[in-house]
Amino acid sequence: MPRPISAHISLSAMRHNLLAVRRCLDSAQVAGDRARPHVWAVIKANAYGHGILNAVQGFGAADGLAMLDLNEAVRCREAGWNGPILLLEGFFEPADIRVLDQHRISVTVHCAEQFDMLEKARPGRPLDAMVKLDSGMNRLGFQPGAYRQAYARAQALQQRGVLGALGRMTHFARADDDAQATAQQIAVFGEATQGLPGSASLCNSAATLTEGLWAHCVPGGEQWVRPGICLYGASPFDDRPAASLGLRPVMTLRSRLINTHVLKAGASVGYGYTYTAPRDTRVGVVACGYADGYPRHAPTGTPICVDGVMTRTLGRISMDMLGVDLDPVPGAAVGSEVVLWGEGGPSVDDVARASGTVGYELLCALAPRVPVQVHTE
Ligand SMILES: *Cc1c(COP(=O)(O)O)cnc(C)c1O
Repeated sequence: MPRPISAHISLSAMRHNLLAVRRCLDSAQVAGDRARPHVWAVIKANAYGHGILNAVQGFGAADGLAMLDLNEAVRCREAGWNGPILLLEGFFEPADIRVLDQHRISVTVHCAEQFDMLEKARPGRPLDAMVKLDSGMNRLGFQPGAYRQAYARAQALQQRGVLGALGRMTHFARADDDAQATAQQIAVFGEATQGLPGSASLCNSAATLTEGLWAHCVPGGEQWVRPGICLYGASPFDDRPAASLGLRPVMTLRSRLINTHVLKAGASVGYGYTYTAPRDTRVGVVACGYADGYPRHAPTGTPICVDGVMTRTLGRISMDMLGVDLDPVPGAAVGSEVVLWGEGGPSVDDVARASGTVGYELLCALAPRVPVQVHTE
């Protein structure tokens, strides 16, 4: 029998979260004359650890899929996804362009070097492209003063049939915690792209879930939002739990107790003896460790659920095991069900917060050795 750990992926939770996003966008509709933005479901990093093919199924109702990796994009096509695909960092070398052409994959163009490559390319069909503005994130994109020139380069390529539909894109640095910084980026975007044709794409999860924000991003026209984390049922905000946003966890990480014992008062558990029992304490050992993707830096006290009862971890997380406090769960025994995060347990965000990180990192870090079960209902 394999170790009793497993990750469960709920496709119905994926569908539910996509609907929740669309409902949130609708609630902001202004006077009926603005069409709801289209949704790129962001499925980079193996769909935030949930599996590309699961995402293709679960987000089948999205308007498009956005990701980073060309091979993942090709796998989406091979899985039967016929809608738009956007590569959020575009392409990296001239040879990529042939693959983009073959599979009808759209790109972000964020630097002059990518235009250089496009100007030498002869794709059989025009490629759709989003020209990226750096409105303040200071990672990728053309600077505001250079944006019009970059867009003109894209339009010249459009004239030559190398590029097809064009759009304008930017990315927010603080949509989760600073409305003023976001308003500033929107203002920079408005000024740098004013009067340019094509669709617009600005909002990540945090911006998408900030009611009404999308309608302030651009005065009109076709808009695409790019939610990622919220579609997996985790929150982009520190102070707003996913459940309060109407989201359902897509991934549930489960395991079982493989041992129980009483830790004598004054005795310690695990590497480094970081937890010493103040009194006799019943401890359970869970078949889950950092080699499964559970964070090693989760301290004693990180929430965890045993037999449906919320309790806490004890001591340092090992490679393959971790300790839990069984005092609140006197009936627990070898074989008892443990939920590390997800449905019926703590949220991945709660585990992440206790460990000094974000839900994104834990979901993406699910280890390949953990067997995945997909639930369609
Ligand atoms: C990852 C990413 C997103 C999605 O971000 P979330 O915070 O997960 O919603 C959107 N746009 C770009 C360019 C990204 O890289």
